[in-house]
Amino acid sequence: MDLKEKILKLKQEKGALILAHNYQLPEIQDVADIVGDSLELSRAAANRKPKLIVFCGVIFMAETAKILSPTSKVLIPSLSAGCFLADTVTAEDVKRLRQEYPDAIFVAYVNTSAEVKAEVDICCTSANAVEVVQRLPEDRPVVFLPDRNLGNYVQRVSGRSDIILWEKGYCYVHEHIRKEDVLTRKQEYPEAKVIAHPECKPEVLELSDVIASTSGMIRYAMESSAKTFIICTEREMTYRLKKDLPEKEFIPVSESATCKTMKTVTLERLYRALQDEVYEVNLAEDIIERAKGSIDRMLEVL
Ligand code: SF4
Repeated sequence: MDLKEKILKLKQEKGALILAHNYQLPEIQDVADIVGDSLELSRAAANRKPKLIVFCGVIFMAETAKILSPTSKVLIPSLSAGCFLADTVTAEDVKRLRQEYPDAIFVAYVNTSAEVKAEVDICCTSANAVEVVQRLPEDRPVVFLPDRNLGNYVQRVSGRSDIILWEKGYCYVHEHIRKEDVLTRKQEYPEAKVIAHPECKPEVLELSDVIASTSGMIRYAMESSAKTFIICTEREMTYRLKKDLPEKEFIPVSESATCKTMKTVTLERLYRALQDEVYEVNLAEDIIERAKGSIDRMLEVL
């Protein structure tokens, strides 16, 4: 039996649910029950109420699954699977900013720790950030955490000039995608549509035909009559797209757009996670409750 078969057998024996983020290695996506973006996966898990969830992604994602499924045992196969972006802001930073901007409404992207989610007023995803901000009261400024590129995009599209950005916050994978990378790919594939994630820099977004979250990318590619797409986000997203739409062509904007910590989840580590039930995500009850409040408020306004 190869490792994939062993994982599938063990998963069945234990009644576990394997979730894989769109940026996971192809072999991990292949053994997962559900592949998707972080909130989509956590919400799907909450609906199924499994005993055991193995989250193949980064730590804040597994925390979100725990927040939405507090009675399930949630495992993350790699303790090195942190998120550079989420780590740019702490709960202490939020408390300090609250003193600096006492009237502001605090919005946190889901790419934040559970502790940060517990300190803010409302969460958002890359798919709904514009809508969430547009629905907030207009007589109070908004502090948008932590991704400055997503915040910048929200500022531009929502037309709100009172958004305070967290300048330290960016995702290095998206930040390193250059406009030259897009221009080179456009020369190679002149007929292709360019789809960019809003975590990319403004100069990359300007060159794109569509700006979309990972789930939005799938939807757009499915509905579009175009056959070729240049994908400006983490490289592995093209694997997910090719699997869903084999008749279309998806080109990563840059082969080096890769999230190193995501790739620390390997088949070996996934097998070990299932076998030994490691590493369990544990959160204090009050953090779960307050962080869930921020996620629920996001779901309520949409
Ligand atoms: S791609 Fe960026 S935002 Fe996503 S997990 Fe990796 S570092 Fe974090």
